[in-house]
Amino acid sequence: MFDEELVKLKENGLYRHLRAQTYLSPNIALIEGREVILFSGNDYLGFSSHPKIKQAACEAIAKYGTSARASRLISGNNELYRTLEMVLAEFKGKEAALVFPTGYHANLSLLTVLATKNDVIYMDKLSHASLYDGCLLSGAILRRYRHNDLNHLENLLAGEASSGRPFIVTEGVFSMDGDLAPLPGLKNLADNYGCLLLVDDAHGTGVLGLDGQGTSDHCGIKLEIEMGTLSKALGGLGGYVAGDQGLINFLINRARPFIFTTGLPPATLAGAKAAIELIAKEPWRRERVLNLAKRVRKILKETGYNIPHGFSPIVPIILGGEEQALALAKHCLKKGLFIPAIRTPAVPKNQARLRMTLSALHSDKEVEQALEILTSAGKELELI
Ligand SMILES: *Cc1c(COP(=O)(O)O)cnc(C)c1O
Repeated sequence: MFDEELVKLKENGLYRHLRAQTYLSPNIALIEGREVILFSGNDYLGFSSHPKIKQAACEAIAKYGTSARASRLISGNNELYRTLEMVLAEFKGKEAALVFPTGYHANLSLLTVLATKNDVIYMDKLSHASLYDGCLLSGAILRRYRHNDLNHLENLLAGEASSGRPFIVTEGVFSMDGDLAPLPGLKNLADNYGCLLLVDDAHGTGVLGLDGQGTSDHCGIKLEIEMGTLSKALGGLGGYVAGDQGLINFLINRARPFIFTTGLPPATLAGAKAAIELIAKEPWRRERVLNLAKRVRKILKETGYNIPHGFSPIVPIILGGEEQALALAKHCLKKGLFIPAIRTPAVPKNQARLRMTLSALHSDKEVEQALEILTSAGKELELI
């Protein structure tokens, strides 16, 4: 089935396939029989292998079993949800919080519940697919503004009278570029034009801000609604929305991706709660991953690579063509280094790249090795 389509994808260098990974340690895995160092995950704080988080998860399994057994509104609302949501609300400085099976569910829920047919959603062009899908599913009118371009956004806002409440939607830390949204400027525009500003902080949560609260805290602004995931720096799975109790109650009543799906397993809930508590207790993890990212950015830039300005643990190495990106990734893999090539549609055409991500648990030696391999590979392939 689909033979022709699949051949076409291969011809265009866009064919994707799944590879089995066996993790040997937090950042080393066997991929197709080869042992490689990974610079590819979103486990920024190394929480996916934290002994205390693993212990909390194991205890929850021993006590409650492996499944929620039902959707949350039926009988899948394990008591662990209550404590997790309390801890989350406090962490985000909000009255209440709601946990979803994934960040994808959280975004679909938030956008479909808040936005309706005649509303306008102004969205940063580089926003995550789940935000686009949420917008599509809401039926709202979509206006895309150029990445982080406040002037373009203001032009769009000024040029359109909206009947409903307009929305500005962005990521906090952009997942493929690692740069931050200009939140103070966006907040200003949102206030001036009566918009609700929605920030997907999947990659900022746990990493940025004084105590890891995220990008809004880092930028010194207050958002009415906070959204993020438990599946990246928090080392688990799930999405969350934090805001006032009315919003949370409304989501519980209206959000189809929340209502018509099974609750998270007890292990996931217990693990996430432990993770949030550990963010404040172990600030060295945040400091380490940000310092590593800073060092890697600086050295790769000096080597001659095109590295956009940034601050987060996501370091994109922009190569342009799909072929260059694939060639560099392949070369690295041969030398025992896994950094994934990212191509369209995840990024715009001619913006193909290697997306390198750091973790607090990368050793200095692993980072040095990666930098050496990238330098020699870049020279051999004449990319730098
Ligand atoms: C990963 C990601 C999501 C989806 O979160 P999951 O928990 O993996 O479903 C949403 N938004 C952004 C920006 C992401 O990077």
